[in-house]
Amino acid sequence: MMDTLLKIHNSFEFVHPSKRFAGNVNALSSKKPYFKWGYNNYNKDCVKASGSSALLELVPEIKKENLDSELPMYDYTKGVVVDLVVVGGGPSGLAVAQQVSEAGLTVCSIDPSPKLIWPNNYGVWVDEFEAMDLLDCLDTTWASAVVYVDENSTRSLNRPYARVNRKQLKTKMLQKCISNGVKFHQAKVIKVVHEEFKSLLICNDGVTIQATLVLDATGFSRSLVQYDKPYNPGYQVAYGILAEVEEHPFDVDKMLFMDWRDSHLGKNTEIKERNSKIPTFLYAMPFSSNRIFLEETSLVARPGLKMEDIQERMVCRLKHLGIKVKSIEEDERCVIPMGGPLPVLPQRVLGIGGTAGMVHPSTGYMVARTLAAAPIVAKSIIQYLNSEKMLCGTDLSAEVWRDLWPIERRRQREFFCFGMDILLRLDLEGTRRFFDAFFDLEPRYWHGFLSSRLFLPELLTFGLSLFAHAPNTSRIEIMAKGTLPLANMINNLVQDRD
Ligand SMILES: Cc1cc2nc3c(=O)[nH]c(=O)nc-3n(C[C@H](O)[C@H](O)[C@H](O)COP(=O)(O)OP(=O)(O)OC[C@H]3O[C@@H](n4cnc5c(N)ncnc54)[C@H](O)[C@@H]3O)c2cc1C
Repeated sequence: MMDTLLKIHNSFEFVHPSKRFAGNVNALSSKKPYFKWGYNNYNKDCVKASGSSALLELVPEIKKENLDSELPMYDYTKGVVVDLVVVGGGPSGLAVAQQVSEAGLTVCSIDPSPKLIWPNNYGVWVDEFEAMDLLDCLDTTWASAVVYVDENSTRSLNRPYARVNRKQLKTKMLQKCISNGVKFHQAKVIKVVHEEFKSLLICNDGVTIQATLVLDATGFSRSLVQYDKPYNPGYQVAYGILAEVEEHPFDVDKMLFMDWRDSHLGKNTEIKERNSKIPTFLYAMPFSSNRIFLEETSLVARPGLKMEDIQERMVCRLKHLGIKVKSIEEDERCVIPMGGPLPVLPQRVLGIGGTAGMVHPSTGYMVARTLAAAPIVAKSIIQYLNSEKMLCGTDLSAEVWRDLWPIERRRQREFFCFGMDILLRLDLEGTRRFFDAFFDLEPRYWHGFLSSRLFLPELLTFGLSLFAHAPNTSRIEIMAKGTLPLANMINNLVQDRD
């Protein structure tokens, strides 16, 4: 079965990290018939065979599950100007649509598949969802998590972790949107044209929708928001499977946050060499003794690792761990741009989530951060649309952007980008030393860093504390490899003023 998995995996071809992956799933070559291949939104429209015969054999079973909800559709024949159009119905977009409509403003949500259950397997820290009163949207929780630093050393993280019940979260948000009067339009926005008091959203079905404000919540496709600096992010690349296995060695009460062990590459010097330069780790959510989500992950690299490289490492790892895959319920290919510049601040189109540079530059996490930012954006939109100042156009948008990216958040992001820059320079041994020291910090530091709760003064203390916890080799390494990123961060901090 491992060979089969590898055979199938190896037929995926990396195109470009910022674009997505091309895949050739030769399902017919599978010895066992039961493979279901789910495609997430990063690969579904770029399935490309490496050869024409392979193309003929391309038999992906695309898993697309829609919600039952009846959506009230936007009546474009009336030409009504809505207060807000939200482009993109992912978690960020729906959260803002729900909250702005709650205040009685008119909202239209545009998405090519508004009823589709989101494809990604989201993992979050339980306290993040608890703070937003979203515990009912978690389906499995683990009381603690574990990190394997290497063969001899583990860290137990006493912080509950959970998988998001994406069906429940989307249903809840959609129902609130519906009862608040949000209207939906099923299409892709291809262009926005701005007039003095309104913007025209031109969709790929020929419909034009008019709005006072436009929010781009299209994730990493960044459809409408403008950038004026070279876009040079790092990339988190991961391959994950939700699988039925004969057995696995992990404790079902603990989620596996990071497994940096590399003994599975023992005899394979070539992959071992690759892994020692740009390491990948295993992330796993064990649901039972024979059902588990396994994801081989490159935390950050520039350029991003090739998907086939990650899949190859994963196959070696599973074989070494004695994990025999019986069937795959879902798979996900994850490409997350991290860090890089913020969009032009301010600009007429508003943004949230991936479009607005909100992914955590050192971890790739975003869902909890954007859900927590949605009320800030919504409140700001409500306040300035209703304001007696009669703001319009870019002046109106500027106020909202200011609330989304105040100086202390921009400084925080700059520090996280500094963290990413260091991680980009660390090999396997350096990465191990880094995380060993990181998870040895007081919980408030590593919790706060991972959940974007620390701001610059605390982040500096965090940095010093991390340095103090690190072994001497690590300190020398951080000084050698961190000097340039540090200088860049200081330069950017000095230049960025309110
Ligand atoms: C495979 C994968 C796994 C991930 N796992 C995690 C995780 O465990 N934890 C975490 O915190 N984060 C995770 N992330 C990051 C994740 O992308 C975000 O947390 C979350 O999906 C961001 O939500 P969003 O609403 O900003 O964008 P998205 O979820 O990407 O939603 C964007 C929506 O916009 C629509 N759209 C795009 N272009 C247009 C257009 N032109 N017109 C209209 N609609 C458009 C898309 O169809 C989509 O519905 C993961 C990402 C990936 C790819």
